Amino acid sequence: MQKLNDSSLFKQQCLIDGQWLGKPSGHTVYNPYDSSVLGQVPNLDSADIERAIASAQIAFESWRGCLAAERSKMLQRWHQLILENSNDLARIITLEQGKPLKEAQGEVAYAASFVAWYAEQATRINGEIVPSHLPNSKILIEKQPVGVVAAITPWNFPAAMMTRKCAPAIAAGCSVIVKPSPDTPFTALALAELAQRAGFPKGLLQVVCGDAASIGQQLCISEQVTKLSFTGSTHVGKLLMVQSANTVKRLSLELGGNAPFIVFDDADIEQALDGLMIAKFRNSGQTCVAANRIFVQSGIYHRFAAALVARVEALKIGNGLDSLDIAPLIHLEAAIKVKQQVEDALQKGGELLSGSIPSGETNLLTPMVLINANDEWLCSQQETFGPMVPLYRFDTEQEVIERANATESGLAAYAYSQDIGRCLRLANRLEAGMVGLNQGLLSSASAPFGGVKQSGLGREGAEQGVEEYLETKYVLLGGNVL
Ligand code: NAP
Repeated sequence: MQKLNDSSLFKQQCLIDGQWLGKPSGHTVYNPYDSSVLGQVPNLDSADIERAIASAQIAFESWRGCLAAERSKMLQRWHQLILENSNDLARIITLEQGKPLKEAQGEVAYAASFVAWYAEQATRINGEIVPSHLPNSKILIEKQPVGVVAAITPWNFPAAMMTRKCAPAIAAGCSVIVKPSPDTPFTALALAELAQRAGFPKGLLQVVCGDAASIGQQLCISEQVTKLSFTGSTHVGKLLMVQSANTVKRLSLELGGNAPFIVFDDADIEQALDGLMIAKFRNSGQTCVAANRIFVQSGIYHRFAAALVARVEALKIGNGLDSLDIAPLIHLEAAIKVKQQVEDALQKGGELLSGSIPSGETNLLTPMVLINANDEWLCSQQETFGPMVPLYRFDTEQEVIERANATESGLAAYAYSQDIGRCLRLANRLEAGMVGLNQGLLSSASAPFGGVKQSGLGREGAEQGVEEYLETKYVLLGGNVL
């Protein structure tokens, strides 16, 4: 952190009601590469969270009345500052999250793209006037901001998961309280500092740190918080859903995935390998849209496996600050989960074509390719969240669709084939919120990101993303005014 161009972006306090508060002594944050201490953040108590909620309520009351053009300008200024400070933000991401610096730079650009997109969208939140069922009257359909939003974000994309929620919420006229992952709070705090510099009024965007379970519960049961947007595991998402029931809170849940990646005999193999390297190894495998189960049709199974091994063995592993491809996983427990999946696979007939079984003593893993995968393996039902590729063999289109859909998740799916009819059938039948056809990189500010089944509720990005922060109000206008 000492090497930041602007050291004042490194905040070890929380932002509440426009002030940096709290003793940076509650929670220590470590560098996943060498476990060195990066800094500390406060452990806020319930009174602090209450104060944040009250401040957000006041900010909302005035922000909702601002001109759309003012909201847009505020977001434009934030966007500009994010770009101007992108090197520092990328460095903070790599230090606390571990990902390779070039990927962290990509994440900052991606995070900024949501702010830019919603700065424009802020001026396009329109209502409708439709023919009425009664004489001398009109039906007005208005869009209004939902109110105070709580945003709980994970560690794998600490910048993008924050802006993907905050930018549309602020464009819509809401105020937001962000609770970042305790593993990666410094990115969120730096983005909040830039929001302050952009002129955000106090209480519009606040960042709170502390015990996840108690803060989560306090936000869920609060009557003043009208919307919760959560990105994280399906398990925690379900818990928050239950806790939000009493206040009938609006919910957006971006939860876990278990993406099938299907390669047919007629696919362009090089294109499929390009897509797989991105869909599997970005962020060292720690993405919710990561290719988790790789189905390869029998005719090309061994050829594909050999070509994949050549690519995987060329990946460089090490410290994210160096120029490389695979960095350490977020912590040792994540590596132990991968180790368990690999051991399970080997016990059930798998063969390791490349890489080595994780030792369980380091979070820096060699990428692995396993063949002879079957649907009984642990990794068939669990996200791996690491650099391990299990190759499943299949024969027919019908068979692979059924196997791909045999999971409770439905976030992303990928398919490679040069038969356009087959691609369209797959797009139709794969149970996923997002389908990549001959493409491995789905994320974009202008596309609606989200899942079906237990992968969540709602969408982030695009026009659908701002709808999540809007209520529809129906006004029937009659009388002698028309
Ligand atoms: P996680 O364990 O669910 O944690 C996510 C966030 O929730 C963290 O800030 C965490 O804080 C907090 N949290 C945990 N327990 C809580 C509780 N009882 N009440 C309120 N908050 C609570 O997930 P993660 O391991 O950080 O992230 C990885 C998961 O996120 C994967 O499953 C991945 O697929 C999913 N993800 C989904 C998307 C998507 O768009 N669908 C995008 C990215 C990631 P603590 O760390 O203190 O527990």
